[in-house]
Order: sequence, then structure tokens, then C-alpha cells
Amino acid sequence: MTPPSPLSNRVKPDDLSLDPKIRRSPYHDPPENEVFLTQKDIIYVRTRRVLFLIGHLFCLYALYLVFSGQVHSYTLLWSVAILYAGKVGITAGAHRLWSHNAYKATVSLRIILMLLQTVSFEMSAYGWSKIHRIHHKYCDTDSDPVNAKRGFFFSHCGWLLILEHPDVKEKNKTIWMEDLHKDKVVMFQHRNYALLVTIFAYLIPVFVPWYYWNESLWTCNLVPFLLTTVITKHITFCVNSVAHYYGMKPYNKNFSPRETNPFISWLTVGEGWHNFHHAFPWDYRNSEFVGYANNLGCFFIDMCASLRMAYDLKTVSEKEIVRRVKTSGDGTHCLWGWNDEANTPEKKAATEIRYPKEEVEEEYNFCKEM
Ligand SMILES: [Zn+2]
Ligand SMILES: [Zn+2]
Repeated sequence: MTPPSPLSNRVKPDDLSLDPKIRRSPYHDPPENEVFLTQKDIIYVRTRRVLFLIGHLFCLYALYLVFSGQVHSYTLLWSVAILYAGKVGITAGAHRLWSHNAYKATVSLRIILMLLQTVSFEMSAYGWSKIHRIHHKYCDTDSDPVNAKRGFFFSHCGWLLILEHPDVKEKNKTIWMEDLHKDKVVMFQHRNYALLVTIFAYLIPVFVPWYYWNESLWTCNLVPFLLTTVITKHITFCVNSVAHYYGMKPYNKNFSPRETNPFISWLTVGEGWHNFHHAFPWDYRNSEFVGYANNLGCFFIDMCASLRMAYDLKTVSEKEIVRRVKTSGDGTHCLWGWNDEANTPEKKAATEIRYPKEEVEEEYNFCKEM
């Protein structure tokens, strides 16, 4: 055990918090070791907050440049391409392949996904998967790094602006990661992340518009790099906040993830079907209803499978989905009609039947007798 730091180095945590309410779970007393912070902790947290604030202020200026027509149309197209390249790397790579093992990929596909995921500037695929596995395994508890029970802001980005809960630190040491330790592509990216991210998330996005269509270096730094990076992050954050706050729970009503508006799925290339996803995290489609327009991630994996670069694609059986809808859903699952397998006895019992068969038959027999 490490000895406690000297009293002079300690500060009460509320001094640091933007909003003291987001520091602590409303359901548990703060543990002993969360009460005092060391100088190192304070510097770490304050640096993050300052960078966060400065980054967002520059983003506002970048938006001004975009909406006042001061950015070349090619630069805007380039920025959207970078944003979606990073999103595919996160959704098909860090999320469905590496976090959940929902399918398997050849070395060539893993290299492509690793490079695309690097473009997103959202930490290494190894670090991303670790946090995400903890989020699924301990959803809605203090061990969940983006615990939605601690408020919308906390689950969106507040979790990055305070020190992680001691329970999260604990789970970081124990969560199973053996499969990724054996994945040479993932470990190569993790070990060389600083170099790779400098090349693929900064130098290439900035160099291309500057060199090929003479965009100013200042705009190249602000739009294809900074603005794209910040928007990519907020889209990912929405899955932890919006998709845990707004929508229905047709598959499992016992935890916070929800089926959100298709708009979120469109932005996240298919991550908005969050109640289904938390109920069946190993399903590569992330949704029961595959519509490629709202699930570009699924389209990408299917395309790779047709090229024999992705294989062992896992899906949940219709029978299991129906069983889950009936036993733990909130009753909002779509039905095609009366005899839909997922229609529950409660819903049938609550139905009023007019002109029931028995009554009609009785009258028919009465007429025949006349
Ligand atoms: Zn979630
Ligand atoms: Zn997931």
C-alpha cells in the first residue's frame, strides 16, 4: 500500500469540481481515497480542463470560418471524409471487432481498421476497448467509467474532467484483455500510438488541403484537424449520454441504455441502437433491424465479409430476441400484428374483441333454427 500524501499536498475535491454533484455517485458515499487529491492529481485534472476549454473556443472560431464561407469546399469535403473514416475505424474496429469480438478479421483488415481508428484520435484501440468493456460489464455502477447514473453531463464528457472513480481504477486492472494482448496489430498501435496519431490524425489531415489546394495552414489546423477531432469525440460521447437517456428499452428495461433516434445512428455509423447493443453486445449488426443507411458500420463489415476479409460474424437468433423482448423488454418492441411471436399474453389480454366468434355463431345457429 502506498502511504498517504502529506497533508499540505491535499485539497478537498469539491475545490476542483466544475459541478460538485458530478463528482460522486448519488447512490454511494465517496470512498476514502476519493476525498483527497495529490498535487499531481490536481495538475492533471486542471490541465485537461484548460485544454478542453481552449480546444472548444478554437472550435467555435473554426465554425465561424466554416459558416462565413472562408473555408475551401474541398477542405470541408476532406474534413467530412476524415470524420467518417475515423468513425468507421471506431465502430467496425475498436468497438465491434476489438471490444466485443463480434466478428473476426484478417490481418490486412485489422491493419486498415487500426489506421482508420488512429485517424479518429480517440486513444489506442487497446485503451478504447478496455474502457468500453468496463462500461458494458459494470454498466450504471461506480465501476462504469461513463456511469449514466451520475448525470447527463458526466456520461457525455464530464468523466474526462475529473479523476476516475477508484472502482474504475480497480476494474482497469482486472478486466479481461488477453485476446488483445495476443493481437499484434493492436499492440503495435498501442506501443507506437504517439507516432501513429501524429502522422494519421494530424500531419496527413493538415498536409493534404495545404499542399493540394493551397488552403492556409491556419485553417488546415483548425478545420480538418481540430474541429473534426472535437466533433468526432462529441459524436462518440453522445452514445454514452444521449443513448443512455432518450429512447425506448424494448430488449431490457433493467439498465439505462436505450434505442435512440435514427439520427444518432446516422452520425455514429450505426451505434444508436443501444438497448439492443447492451442486451446483445456480441451481435456484429448492433441492431435487430439492419438498414444500411443508419448502420454504415454493418454495411462495412458485410462488405469486408463478401471480400473474405471479415468472417465468423455473430448474430443473435430470432428466438432469443423474442425471449428477451417478452421477459425483460419494456413492451415497446415493434410487432407486425396479433400473431407476432413477440406479442405478450398481457397485451393480448388487454385487447377488446368485438363481435366474438361465439356470439356470432350463436346468432347464426338461432337464425338457422327459425
Ligand atoms: Zn452504453
Ligand atoms: Zn459496446
